[in-house]
Amino acid sequence: MTARNITIEAALVEARERFVERNPQSREAYTQACSALPGGNTRTVLFYAPFPLAIASGAGCHLRDADGHDYLDFLGEYTAGLYGHSHPKIRAAIDRALDGGINLSGHNLLEARLARVVCDRFPSLDLIRFTNSGTEANLMALATVTVATGRRKILVFDGGYHGGVLYFGGGGSPVNAPHDFVVGRYNDVAHARELIAAHGPELAAILVEPMLGSGGCIPGDPNFLQALRDGASACGAVLIFDEVMTSRLAPGGLQEALCIIPDMTTLGKYIGGGMSFGAFGGRAELMSRYDPRRPDALPHAGTFNNNILTMSAGLAGMTEIFTPQVAIELSARGETLRARLNEACAAQGAAMQFTGRGSLMAVHFSARPVVTPRDAALGHQALKELFFFDMLERGIYFARRGMLILSLPVGDAECDRLVEAVQDFLVTRAPLLQAEALSAA
Ligand code: PMP
Repeated sequence: MTARNITIEAALVEARERFVERNPQSREAYTQACSALPGGNTRTVLFYAPFPLAIASGAGCHLRDADGHDYLDFLGEYTAGLYGHSHPKIRAAIDRALDGGINLSGHNLLEARLARVVCDRFPSLDLIRFTNSGTEANLMALATVTVATGRRKILVFDGGYHGGVLYFGGGGSPVNAPHDFVVGRYNDVAHARELIAAHGPELAAILVEPMLGSGGCIPGDPNFLQALRDGASACGAVLIFDEVMTSRLAPGGLQEALCIIPDMTTLGKYIGGGMSFGAFGGRAELMSRYDPRRPDALPHAGTFNNNILTMSAGLAGMTEIFTPQVAIELSARGETLRARLNEACAAQGAAMQFTGRGSLMAVHFSARPVVTPRDAALGHQALKELFFFDMLERGIYFARRGMLILSLPVGDAECDRLVEAVQDFLVTRAPLLQAEALSAA
């Protein structure tokens, strides 16, 4: 690719055309998928126009698509793929589970061990229950708090994503669960205090991501999160941290790193070793309501809650691979990488930046600080799409919406390749990336 003086729109049209030319097999797979799946898709986040790549296989931090192109995987299954695609210890754990037989129809010997390990890691967890997804974990947490408090309202924040039926970006989703939500502005302390003052006696819970993940890797301001902690305590609401994504950012999650401890925490993603997983847990007085020995026990069923593949892979991952030390090292690697990427953007004077924390980051095409979802929305969206297609051509795979995630197999060489690819993009597209060019666009 050579630098040429063309508009962003024209560059994007060309990039899309090259994408179509390069990926006939992905297009064919997509066309076929459309006959049985609405829009050829069963997971909305993975769709992008003109059609998404069909990924044929993965190993370590490498992916191969249906047309045989190889990519460095900087998506890591939206954080669930922490261990890479073929970690020998995860594989051995799954093999052990298979050797012992799946679907055992009873308590098994691994679920309590995984529960113990997870409770020991995250400061807010006295007791925990497993689910099959992060969505389900948040639904169960919300059900728990409405029963426990006898209140109905839930304070959530714009840009928050807590699952397929708990999405608060862009004005919310018509398929959201029918809770009585009050929507605050993320990182706006004064507004949060106002809402807590206005709704306090009716608030069952405050549900928040300590860093917005899918909302653009926007770290929660510690003052904002502390205000939520104080406000929840003062009005008797339950503070729930959704650490489905952020739990990897420190040995005990972002709650530990920030020294702000919620009453409940929801988890998911990598903690099941890459198998389907979710969990909700917290203070004993809340969670012991699920103790089936109690006459007033709350029910919580789920055929696959303790499925042996997840329990085995999760236990191996948390004990043999993602130790507290490894969690610290991964976050440090991410911080260094993000700093290098931002230096590269600054050196070119580009209206482009990477936000985030540790191994989670997102690109924004804006010269202004990105500290709220509104700031993120003001970034240049067509440039983000151009960046996506340009990086795919350079063999870098990440989320179409701009999220990049480190998995454990990503090492120095892979980070170098990413930085080089971004530098190449910055040079090739330099005329399109200047702040003045963007404000004129
Ligand atoms: N909460 C957060 C913060 C998430 O990022 C996600 C998934 N991206 C979920 C909840 C939902 O998890 P799942 O996709 O496993 O339902």
